Amino acid sequence: MAGTLYLVPTPIGNLGDISRRMAETLEQADFIAAEDTRVTVKLLNHLGIRRPMLTYHRHNTDSGGQAVIDRLLAGESCALVTDAGTPAISDPGEELVARCAELGVPVCAIPGPCALVTALAVSGQPTGRFTFEGFLAMNKKNRRAHLDALRGEERTMVFYEAPHKLAATLEDLSATFGPDRPLTLCRELTKLHEEVRRTTLGQAAAYFRENDPKGEFVLVVRGAEPVREEEASLEDGLVLVDKLRGEGLSLRDAVRQAARELGLSRNQLYDLAVGK
Ligand code: SAM
Repeated sequence: MAGTLYLVPTPIGNLGDISRRMAETLEQADFIAAEDTRVTVKLLNHLGIRRPMLTYHRHNTDSGGQAVIDRLLAGESCALVTDAGTPAISDPGEELVARCAELGVPVCAIPGPCALVTALAVSGQPTGRFTFEGFLAMNKKNRRAHLDALRGEERTMVFYEAPHKLAATLEDLSATFGPDRPLTLCRELTKLHEEVRRTTLGQAAAYFRENDPKGEFVLVVRGAEPVREEEASLEDGLVLVDKLRGEGLSLRDAVRQAARELGLSRNQLYDLAVGK
C-alpha cells in the first residue's frame, strides 16, 4: 500500500505559528521533501527533529517529484515543506499533489500558515468572494493579458509580489483598475514589523515611487463595483406588451410575460395597457 504525502505548512515569519500537528507530522514522516534543505534544517533544529531529507523545488519537479513518488509507492510517508507557508500555494507541490491524485496515492493537507489567507482576513475587504492571482508574470505580453482578464472583476483580488517588483506592479494595477481603487497592502505578516496599510492603488504607487519597499508583500485589491442594470419603466413594459401582442399573444399573456421579463408589477402594467 502506498504511503501518504503530507503537506506541512511552515511559519511565514513567526515561529510561534508552529502547531503541534505540524511538528508531529514532520517527526513521524519517513522522509521530508523540502524546497531548500538549508532553510528546513533550521526549522528542524529549532524543533529538535532529525529526519532524512531530499529536495523538491520548482526546478526539479520531474526528477525530484519522481523520487518522492517512487518512495511513496514503496510505502514510505513523506512530509512536503516549502521555505514558508503552505506547500502548493504559489510554491512547489501542485504537480506532486496532482500526480499523487492520478496514482491514487493518499494526500493529507495539514492546515496552517498561508500569506494569502492571513492577508485576506486582515484586509477589511469583502471576503465572501475573492480570487487569488498569485504573482503577475514578468513577461510583458502575459502580464498585460492577465491584467486585461481582470478588468471588471467584481471579486476581491489577492496578489503576491516580491519587493523589487512592487513599485512596477502597483503602477500597472493602478493603470488597470484606476488610482482610486481601494487596496490593502500587507507587509511582513506575522513578523516584528508587520504592517497593514489600507490605502488606494494610486496612493500606494505614488508612495513607492519615492520609497524603496522592504520585506514581503500581499496586495488585496477591492473588486469592481457591480454594474447595475437600468430598472425598466412601465413605459418600457408597454412597448414590450405591444411587441408581444404583435407576435400573437393575448393582452393578458403579453402583460404577464412583459411584467416577468422586466421585473414590473403585472397589475400596474395591465391597468396602463387597458388605459385605466
Ligand atoms: N506558499 C506560501 C504561502 O502559503 O503563503 C507563498 C509562497 S510565495 C513563493 C512567497 C510570497 O508570499 C511572497 O512574495 C509574498 O507575496 C507572500 N508572503 C510570504 N510570507 C509573507 C509575509 N510574512 N508577509 C507578507 N507576504 C508574505
